[in-house]
Amino acid sequence: MTLSISLEEIYNQSVSTEINTEPRPQVSEEDMQQAVRTLLIGLGEDPNREGLRDTPKRVVKALRFLTSGYNQSIDELLNGAIFKEDTNEMVLVRDIDLFSSCEHHILPILGRAHVAYIPKGKVIGLSKLARICEMYARRLQVQERLTQQIADALHGLLQPQGVAVVVEATHMCMVMRGVQKPGSWTVTSSMQGVFAEDARTRQEFMDLIRHSPSFH
Ligand SMILES: [Zn+2]
Repeated sequence: MTLSISLEEIYNQSVSTEINTEPRPQVSEEDMQQAVRTLLIGLGEDPNREGLRDTPKRVVKALRFLTSGYNQSIDELLNGAIFKEDTNEMVLVRDIDLFSSCEHHILPILGRAHVAYIPKGKVIGLSKLARICEMYARRLQVQERLTQQIADALHGLLQPQGVAVVVEATHMCMVMRGVQKPGSWTVTSSMQGVFAEDARTRQEFMDLIRHSPSFH
């Protein structure tokens, strides 16, 4: 049986679906491309040489894609995939690939998310867990906020007994600029409900996701 949840309910549960309704400053495609050209010139490059001629266009297009999560709504993304189900067992999807961009340098954050919840009458389509991660990843992010947003969204949508989200990621702004050794990663977590309150439940989750991540 399908249980539909209206947008209004979602807003009442204060899930940050974050469709920004404030008027955006009007910046044309051309302005954006010009900004990339300016960057190239500032870096000592010749934006007219063959290899760079279409780079401003490509950079703007790539950035729009990498931040397309701003324009998505949870409601659209779920497409009704929340169902009534009486189960008390942990649902876990691990190793969800994450490609995000750090808001400080607009450089890649590459990693994986492990998302679990223990239902209380409602479950969500498994693929939607990955889609929720993707929506928040395709924004300018810090890893801590990304982790929290995924957990808060699930909590708001399902009011489950608990939610656990762990994100393991490597930040190119650290790795490529030599601050950190390549191969190091950052782990962030958000534990809510029974995962926060009950050490055994939390441990069960941690045991299930234990592995050695390897990134590229
Ligand atoms: Zn950064």
